[in-house]
Amino acid sequence: MRYSESFIKTNKSAPKDAETISHQLLMRGSFIHPLGAGFYSLLPLGFKTYRKIYNIITEELNAIGVEDMIMPVVHPARVWKETNRFFEVGPELWKIKNRANEDFALAMTHEEVVTDAAKQIISSYKDLPKLVGQIQTKVRDEARARGGLLRTKEFTMQDAYSFDLDEKGLDKVYQKFIKAYNQIFKRVGVETVMVESSVGAMGGLGANEFMLLADSGEDKIIVCSKCKHAVNAEVLGVSKDDAKQIKAGAKCLKCKCDKLELKRGIEVGNIFKLGTKYSVAQKLIYKDRHDQAKPVVMGSYGIGLERLMASVIEASHDDFGIIWPNSITPYQVYLIDINEQKKAEQVYAKLLKAGIEVFYDDREVGPGEKFGDADLLGFPYRVTISSKTKGKVELKKRTSKKAELLTIDQLIRRLKK
Ligand SMILES: [Zn+2]
Repeated sequence: MRYSESFIKTNKSAPKDAETISHQLLMRGSFIHPLGAGFYSLLPLGFKTYRKIYNIITEELNAIGVEDMIMPVVHPARVWKETNRFFEVGPELWKIKNRANEDFALAMTHEEVVTDAAKQIISSYKDLPKLVGQIQTKVRDEARARGGLLRTKEFTMQDAYSFDLDEKGLDKVYQKFIKAYNQIFKRVGVETVMVESSVGAMGGLGANEFMLLADSGEDKIIVCSKCKHAVNAEVLGVSKDDAKQIKAGAKCLKCKCDKLELKRGIEVGNIFKLGTKYSVAQKLIYKDRHDQAKPVVMGSYGIGLERLMASVIEASHDDFGIIWPNSITPYQVYLIDINEQKKAEQVYAKLLKAGIEVFYDDREVGPGEKFGDADLLGFPYRVTISSKTKGKVELKKRTSKKAELLTIDQLIRRLKK
């Protein structure tokens, strides 16, 4: 892509309401556009990263046997009334009416909808286990949308659902998800800790969250510095507004030591042992080997894609801009020429031909502006062609201060590694 043809306009400063670093950098780099409080468009640069995250998630979940499907965003209230969540959840559940004055709910989550679908498929022990998932829009009427993509009213979520004969089956698939989620976060380029959390509005037998440790996080986590066991502060009754310290005498739930630290985190994934809450309420029943009717045992598993994208920036940036991990960067290379347009055009064509994702800054502006945008947008490599590079090109990593001179062939070999 050429800068001059791209749907991009960078900015030296961020809007006043952008408090978190990811919000500031996503706005300054024109990765996103705020349509209204909590509603964002992903502009082309943002969408490229989004699609890479999408693909990583899909690959890892398909690898543990998740079968992809897609469910509606507008839900007839019937299913939400079956579980009583239509009345219990609170104002986050966005309710609308159609022209006939019938109730509908927007997809805050999809447990009810997937359970309804499962009744068409599952009726016998022979139909179990099953494992399905989707990447689909969620809508939540959050009281305070904040932090750019960190908390929005409309976002995309990967949500998967497991159906098992019993809790033993659920435990097995739950462990598979823990592994797959750790693998997804590793590939996306963030470090997370898994914490015990409260089941919240989902209900059920237990829940875990995957937390990215960051000072800008709104969740408080108590981490044991000895055994690394981590718990969401909510679980221990430490209120969100509580003081900075942990209550005197508090002990690690696992190793019983008192070496507890309070940290802040951003929740990037959560998994729930739903048990039979939904299958009982919605009558998702199977006949076992002895013809006994039993409720299906369920789990649900979710990762918010836009939030994950913002979290990566919270964890990976410097004073000059974003530092994208190679796996989810919009482009691998930011190509710059300083009054060497003809040579740069040749290099651009060769990189494209070699299948390298290259963004060519072909604007007629000074080098300072080009280098500034290269750092702000944060692609892993900057390639510069100037009178000083003498038929070669200068390669600089976003994370390094040093640059090196390479021939075009050497450059392509390096980037293909
Ligand atoms: Zn411990």
